[in-house]
Amino acid sequence: MVTVKGGLKKKTVKEIKVDVDKCTGCRSCEMACSSFHAVPKYSSMNPARARIRVVIDELRDVYVPVRAGEYTPAECMGRDKYTIDGKKYDECAFCRASCPSRDYFKEPDSGLPLKCDMCEDDPPQEEPLCVQWCLSDALTYEEREEEEEEEEKPEDLEIGLESLVDKYGLEKIMDTVARMSIAKKG
Ligand code: SF4
Ligand code: SF4
Repeated sequence: MVTVKGGLKKKTVKEIKVDVDKCTGCRSCEMACSSFHAVPKYSSMNPARARIRVVIDELRDVYVPVRAGEYTPAECMGRDKYTIDGKKYDECAFCRASCPSRDYFKEPDSGLPLKCDMCEDDPPQEEPLCVQWCLSDALTYEEREEEEEEEEKPEDLEIGLESLVDKYGLEKIMDTVARMSIAKKG
């Protein structure tokens, strides 16, 4: 929720705290998220469509929930390497971005980027679905108020279109839209 006050925006910052020591790797968070965002809502459960995924190493009892962040059209110039309890994890394992170098956080059919929306809805959820379904309390939810300068941010539609243009090129997208619009009118 955003309110304007003398050039400054007062906004509610939503925060999901992750306690990896409490995560059991049950993946209920993935199920709940994918089900909530299914079309129609709750019509299917498919972790590949979830905006959260759990990085799992069963042998070492390591489970790390990661929520999808921003889409980025470019790969990183470098890579992070994590070692936890002596086990090395893949490059990009804990990254939140939807990017060209991997399939995580992309809608499986369309390739469109998926981003956690903190379960924005009308009316809004009291708590994000993944938090509600995390019975181990590995995920907990908090809200706080912050003030910031006004700034225009791209809409979700713009981000989705940008990723399609990156993937197929502007000309192909424009041709497809033109064809679809003629078919709709006809
Ligand atoms: S907050 Fe909502 S959208 Fe984000 S990962 Fe959790 S269930 Fe999915
Ligand atoms: S629901 Fe909670 S305990 Fe289960 S995998 Fe997700 S974060 Fe971990």
